[in-house]
Amino acid sequence: MPKIKPRVPMGEQPPLQRIKNFKSVPYGYTEDEAVEEAARCIQCKKPKCEPACPVNIGIKEMNLLIAQRKFKEAYLLVKEDNSFPACSGRVCPQEKQCEGDCILKKFDEPIAIGKLEAFIADWGAKHQVEVAEALANNEDKHIAIVGSGPAGLACAAECRKYGYAVTIYETLHKAGGVLQYGIPEFRLPKDIVDDEVKKLEAMGVKIELNHTVGQNIYYYELVSQNDAVFLAMGAGAPKFMGIAGENPLDGVYSSNEFLIRANLMKAYKFPEWDTPIDVGKKVAVLGAGNVAMDAARTALRLGAEEVHIIYRRTKEYAPARAEELHHALEEGVIFHELVNPIRFHGNDEGFIDYMELVKMELIEDKKGKLRPTPIKGSNFYMGIDTVIEALGTVPNRLFLDRAPEIKRDKNGVIIVDENHMTSVEGTFAGGDAASGAATVIKALGEGKNAAKAIHAYISSHDD
Ligand code: FAD
Ligand code: SF4
Repeated sequence: MPKIKPRVPMGEQPPLQRIKNFKSVPYGYTEDEAVEEAARCIQCKKPKCEPACPVNIGIKEMNLLIAQRKFKEAYLLVKEDNSFPACSGRVCPQEKQCEGDCILKKFDEPIAIGKLEAFIADWGAKHQVEVAEALANNEDKHIAIVGSGPAGLACAAECRKYGYAVTIYETLHKAGGVLQYGIPEFRLPKDIVDDEVKKLEAMGVKIELNHTVGQNIYYYELVSQNDAVFLAMGAGAPKFMGIAGENPLDGVYSSNEFLIRANLMKAYKFPEWDTPIDVGKKVAVLGAGNVAMDAARTALRLGAEEVHIIYRRTKEYAPARAEELHHALEEGVIFHELVNPIRFHGNDEGFIDYMELVKMELIEDKKGKLRPTPIKGSNFYMGIDTVIEALGTVPNRLFLDRAPEIKRDKNGVIIVDENHMTSVEGTFAGGDAASGAATVIKALGEGKNAAKAIHAYISSHDD
């Protein structure tokens, strides 16, 4: 094993500076830094990082090309497997995927695969590298896609390459799904998402914004007017604690509502945008996933003096990406382990005033799993101005309730076969709507695979 150099650190805004703005926290690698980092790759014969990537990017070759300064070639290589590398490079949980299986991890830090992917994607965008997309001519066949998140966008890109006429229906006024309204600007700059959407439109994909399927256009219309339908509505309906005081009190948000107000309605640009959020001085965020970290860090940037993460397990069980947790703690977010709220109390004006919490312990159940369990008599109180619940989400039932022939499981997740087809022939589904809340790259991969299945389905019905 050759001597391995340490990972090239990426510059980022210092914590005290960045909590005063919404700009990207990392600065991104320079060309020289990227070359140095990529050159750390030892070019394994059988790289384990590649099968650990849900879309199997040619990581070994990408590293080699970057190390040789062949940036254009590296960009084109990555784009073959992933239409949105600038997004996945920034938000994938790399430590559980590609970087988790990098052999260097045994000796030092793994190659910064995500950061290199983001670098090469930004380089390609900056140098306006054209990706030659061979579009077949099948425009007499129409595909309708519901939802413009990563699953919908990836499916649209692939279906367009097969030459179909593709229309995406999106309920919000901007395309991108969670990439646009959920993940904050400081983690995923919105010009990157807008740029990806523009490229898709340049390929000929039509995007109908402000179109809610089930409200102002019906699923049955889509079925009758198209050769196939792809459902990619995500899992945007929040789960709540279901405890006393939660429902009637102002100042208790679901993370989705809070982040939509902050990101999409630009609460942080008040008064330029007349949609402020007054978080008060002390904010509690319930949960410890990526969504919780995004909400906590957004609350800090909206002026909260103290932001508390309330989690019923210990920090090592936090599902957030390692980098998000690290950044949140660096920014001063206070992490409370083994605690759970049991009641919210309001003031005379109907706003949240304080929470009652109970301490928890992890007790092994019969199957050997550690379950968070309340400790009797350990109740305590915490004064609070805003509570944000980030406890997970499930698919929205808006139109699915009116289309019962599309079978779902007990959590409302659409059931699909190995070809992404639902119980209705010609209707396919993917992303969070068909898997439950998951990851951006999983949604991108499913959108891409569903497009292949749609192509096979349409081809087999062609006379
Ligand atoms: P979505 O991105 O949810 O897109 C669905 C789209 O469908 C939305 O635009 C919605 O408006 C639209 N829609 C819904 N119903 C209708 C309808 N009836 N008619 C028309 N349009 C409709 N994953 C990671 O890998 N890394 C992260 O760091 C990460 N951070 C996250 C942070 C937050 C705040 C959130 C909420 C999620 C995060 N995730 C992360 C998860 C990831 O974003 C999702 O798994 C992914 O976006 C799912 O993609 P999707 O296309 O299935 O759905
Ligand atoms: Fe790693 Fe995600 Fe990029 Fe795949 S898409 S190489 S898992 S960062």
